[in-house]
Amino acid sequence: MRLLITGSPGAGKGTQGTRLAAHFGIPHLSSGDLLRKIVASGDGAVAQSARAISDGKMVSDETANALMLGELDKPEAANGFVLDGYPRTLSQAQTLTAFLAGRGEKLDAVVALEVSEVAVIERLGNRITCPQCGETYHALVSPPKVVGVCDECGYAGLTVRPDDLPERITVRLRLYTERTEPILGYYREQNLLTPVNAEGTENDVFARIVAALKKVAPL
Ligand SMILES: [Zn+2]
Repeated sequence: MRLLITGSPGAGKGTQGTRLAAHFGIPHLSSGDLLRKIVASGDGAVAQSARAISDGKMVSDETANALMLGELDKPEAANGFVLDGYPRTLSQAQTLTAFLAGRGEKLDAVVALEVSEVAVIERLGNRITCPQCGETYHALVSPPKVVGVCDECGYAGLTVRPDDLPERITVRLRLYTERTEPILGYYREQNLLTPVNAEGTENDVFARIVAALKKVAPL
């Protein structure tokens, strides 16, 4: 199964992408997670451009393509993948199509998570993240068992990502509308777009995605 999961910031791409990957037994390739890992490693020029994401900016098409196509080239991704956070622009989407066509492949579906702006602000404004393993919590709906401590890895320093501060959320939503929304039309034209209502609980949304995929991309 070759999937792309897309949607505005706070739509739940990371959470649902992780679950889809586990469900289908394929890797979850998240550009955000990858960039954060590179920033943490402090690895020269790449880390510098990756740091741009914490300023609410988008990385260049060249950097995004190089990073994510590199991931797709790894043997783990040979039999399927869930792409998350890439492509983010029409140009990146076209590059991805050409890359996959070059090895006789195409995407099976593009899951577009749909949420209202009000829901996005409520979710991101309450999001707490583990800097060590990337697990996320909602301060009100799904807090960690012990305040400030990660349930998954035990790290005692849960934090609000700079990206999730109120002023950044507004910038990220604007960038999404301007630069990423055009890819929805691109995939709609190719009959790949699978819109899914992403409001409600994590379990409800996941069930909707799986049901929608059964229709468009039966295994
Ligand atoms: Zn953790």
